[in-house]
Amino acid sequence: MITPILKNYIYSYKNFDAPKQTHKVSESGNNVFDWDKLPSYKYYNYQISFGCSKEEEIKKYLKNKRKNLNRQHISYKNINLYNLNKLEGIQQDIDVFKGLSMRQIKFLAQHSTEFVLQRGCHNMCAHCYASAMPPSYQKSPDKINKIDFKDFEKLYYGFKELNKRLGFSIFKNSKNEYNTLFHDADSSTIFLQDDKGKVYDYLDLSKMVHELTDKIVLFDTAGWNIQDKKTQERMEKLVQKAASSDEYDFMEFNISTNPFHALNHLALRHLKNGNYEQYQKFRDIYTTRMANVLFTFTPLIEKEKVNLLVRALPNETRNAAGYREDDLLMLYSEVFIKLLQLYEQDYESGARKVIKDKEQIDKNLDYLNKGLKSVDKTMGINGRLANIVTDKKIHAYKKTKARTYKEPQKAVQLFPDGIIDVNGKFYITNWYECYPTDVQLNYCNKDKKTADINPSLNEKIVTSDMLDI
Ligand code: SF4
Repeated sequence: MITPILKNYIYSYKNFDAPKQTHKVSESGNNVFDWDKLPSYKYYNYQISFGCSKEEEIKKYLKNKRKNLNRQHISYKNINLYNLNKLEGIQQDIDVFKGLSMRQIKFLAQHSTEFVLQRGCHNMCAHCYASAMPPSYQKSPDKINKIDFKDFEKLYYGFKELNKRLGFSIFKNSKNEYNTLFHDADSSTIFLQDDKGKVYDYLDLSKMVHELTDKIVLFDTAGWNIQDKKTQERMEKLVQKAASSDEYDFMEFNISTNPFHALNHLALRHLKNGNYEQYQKFRDIYTTRMANVLFTFTPLIEKEKVNLLVRALPNETRNAAGYREDDLLMLYSEVFIKLLQLYEQDYESGARKVIKDKEQIDKNLDYLNKGLKSVDKTMGINGRLANIVTDKKIHAYKKTKARTYKEPQKAVQLFPDGIIDVNGKFYITNWYECYPTDVQLNYCNKDKKTADINPSLNEKIVTSDMLDI
């Protein structure tokens, strides 16, 4: 359930020094926008009045259109109901949209699923649709793997200003229902820092994105190294913050224990080679790690805000022992046994960090067990997973092939999702393949390279003349 908490919400930047305001919003004439119903914004130099006569023309068009829609009892908050030719120019002087037409901006907004803040992941899961590699992979001076905070601000204030000028969010009625702040990174590693050193955690950044789009924002983690004290501390704080108020009810927390994780994958390789000792060693490291993740997320588990991502291959898949549904359930039972030990230890030692009352233990484990009822077996067999799955008869394999198109024009029609990379480049995807587009936000880092976008990035580009909007 998404709480529309941000309808009247003012994002508070207590320690944020605003750049000098260079222009004031034009307040002359009749204000046709229903400003009062919008959040109050602070205006920085992204807020610049757009050309006078054009501004009046657009305001008049919006006013009449809105009246017309109101008369028909149709919500005016839907960009699809507007003639983009008549709106062209409304984006003028918003720095992040420099060089982009309204058709391009609408295309991006309506497909924008992933507002990517960081690239790269150490988990190296074999089923990773994005074929994520560690952030340091192919490091070079002209390559970035993290968004500059200034670019995130540009994006945030740019869309905020555009929404204000429109009188509604351009993200309304878009093709997708949720947002993420990642493409190929684990959420536990994502945070940003401004040039004054102020740190914005995943919740702060999600709140800003939610304010623009009013959608659920996902936090997905496949865990972190138990020795990584910084991440452990960051996650404990984040869980505490999210669990202690309903301010973050728009968030969905997903934890993935999966047989494809690099550690379990390594354990299975040792098992295949008959090295049981090494199998046990890596299996133990992995299950201990995931039990710690669930222990850390317990305050949110108790609020039933945590989902388990349970993905495996169908039991009938040939030559894939260790990665099938029954193997996944076995893996989870090992993790739950370790979690039970952590809970009992926490309670009985008197530490009571997360378990204050013994009844909680059964309740939490029951809740997590329920999450195992439906295992997702629909994942795309591409990238690294294609090396494991050789059984072309299974449904998942056939489906992957059926879900790929070789025409960018078709992709424009059929692909619901999109990825805004850390350099502002925009891609569309159906999670089986991706297309680059000629749309790029005007980020400071727009000329920097990033790691390749996956899955299956096509060479052909979606160009703006293909857009049917
Ligand atoms: S945690 Fe997610 S992004 Fe990282 S490798 Fe696994 S599936 Fe890919």
